[in-house]
Amino acid sequence: MKSEMIRLLRESGEYKSGQELCDRFQVSRTAVWKVINQLKEEGYVIEAKQNKGYRLLESPDTMEAFEVESRMITKWAGRKVFYKKETGSTNTDCKQLAQGGQPHGTLAVADRQVKGKGRRGRGWESPAGESIYMSLLCRPDFLPDKAPMLTLVMGVSVAEAVERYTGLAAKIKWPNDIVVNGRKICGILTEMEMGLETKEIQYLVVGVGINVNNGFAGMQETGDWKAAREMAFPGELSDKATSLYLEAEKEDTKILRAPLVRYVMEAFEKNYVQFLQTLDLSLLRESYNGYLVNRNAAVKVLDPGGEYAGIAREIDDQGDLLVETKDGEVKKVYSGEVSVRGIYGYAL
Ligand code: ATP
Repeated sequence: MKSEMIRLLRESGEYKSGQELCDRFQVSRTAVWKVINQLKEEGYVIEAKQNKGYRLLESPDTMEAFEVESRMITKWAGRKVFYKKETGSTNTDCKQLAQGGQPHGTLAVADRQVKGKGRRGRGWESPAGESIYMSLLCRPDFLPDKAPMLTLVMGVSVAEAVERYTGLAAKIKWPNDIVVNGRKICGILTEMEMGLETKEIQYLVVGVGINVNNGFAGMQETGDWKAAREMAFPGELSDKATSLYLEAEKEDTKILRAPLVRYVMEAFEKNYVQFLQTLDLSLLRESYNGYLVNRNAAVKVLDPGGEYAGIAREIDDQGDLLVETKDGEVKKVYSGEVSVRGIYGYAL
């Protein structure tokens, strides 16, 4: 009822009388009043006027399930949300939810991760209250070799959502990083569980970390963007990582996280349908290539078998990156073990 109440108040934008809310949710006046008070305590700004009712003026920046669910307009992606204030990794939580029988589209979110995961056993910095940490459960019936492409489907979805929500120019560093102004704001990690006997996909978990308000606290303290960035992303990360707040450069404006979750889910749901039509990226390839940060630019391919340089051209229908070497040979770069770098730094 909480998330439905928020949704109703938010969508109408008008006063809703106590009686209207009672009728709608089939509860007593006292019950409505209690929920409204609870919401106020949780940071919602709700105006109450005699003879008019309640009006929602502001929502807090929270990742609680009721807030995220109250924003969702998708059919299945993110309709059911499980929130933890602190967790190891939302991918691990999502796998547990999958094993407990939760449906396709279930979303595990957290306010903080203490063991956030990147590719190949690396970590993902996951401080409290600033970013989005979420993992989407998918129960597809395609074969396991198709699964890595979902990382790219999510990549293009995050890029679209970030652009739509913030107006910032998002780019993709193949295969799984979203960058803004040459620095990384998002990483994606897809994990798969297969049936022991059947060798079919039991489920997939698509984990997404998006840096949203990192740097806000540092900016309030120092008033200096560079210092704020270094406080948010110390050491090596300061050259490589950024957040939407740091790139939007609106000193006093925090960016609400829950609407961005909604935009990502909306975009993913739409792109997933396209992916299922062909079971490859042929319908999404043009859009993905449009976001490619190194398109037609020089890159270094960090292949465990040997590093080489070339010009990144585009992805093919399977999501492999086509890199043209200086003798004109076009090499297919498969994700998995490989990282791509710009020639001057992380992205370009
Ligand atoms: P690359 O090696 O090109 O960064 P990758 O896709 O292999 O890309 P991921 O596994 O997605 O990297 O992410 C892990 C890496 O990202 C870490 O090794 C670290 O350098 C960096 N990183 C960790 N936390 C964050 C963060 N919050 N924001 C941006 N980058 C981060």
